[in-house]
Amino acid sequence: MTRLTLVRGDITEQDVDAVVNAANSSLLGGGGVDGAIHRRGGPEILAACRDLRASQYGKGLPTGRAVATTAGRLPARWVIHTVGPVYGAAGADPSLLASCYRESLRVADELGARTVAFPAVSTGAYGWPMADAARIAVEAVRSAATDVEEVRFVLFDEQAYQAFAERIGSSDTG
Ligand code: ADP
Repeated sequence: MTRLTLVRGDITEQDVDAVVNAANSSLLGGGGVDGAIHRRGGPEILAACRDLRASQYGKGLPTGRAVATTAGRLPARWVIHTVGPVYGAAGADPSLLASCYRESLRVADELGARTVAFPAVSTGAYGWPMADAARIAVEAVRSAATDVEEVRFVLFDEQAYQAFAERIGSSDTG
């Protein structure tokens, strides 16, 4: 069974097998989590993303999908990039946000990652309301068939932490 844990902090500092990036479809960098990961992880990550754009993702990574690269200088071994839906955009339904979590875990399984840290995908620049995003994230992870042993939600501020804590309950956080 996958253990769900909660941390208030910075995703780039997590000592896990894989950290998930709230990327944009270009894979070529942005603000928020994406900016922090590239800043701290160094140029190797961007180089790997450029290679992906030059090969299987010529048009960019579609919303709801996930792909892995090196984690460069981060403590993690891999970065799993996923593209969340923009809240309110045409076709941006909750299933696409759930898909980010499911697809990231599928990629984690392919890599053999056992511990994976997620940010609250789509809740920054992409505007998804935190409480709803937390519900979707927790349901998606709980219903996923995965060999990942720990899914760690890394929340940047108290409001985000509380939203996830309410969904998870105190029983299985650690
Ligand atoms: P998106 O474009 O998918 O909305 P953002 O990166 O803008 O992604 O924001 C996603 C969430 O991650 C927001 O709640 C934001 O506050 C939070 N966040 C920003 N930087 C970090 C970080 N270094 N570690 C963890 N969470 C972060």
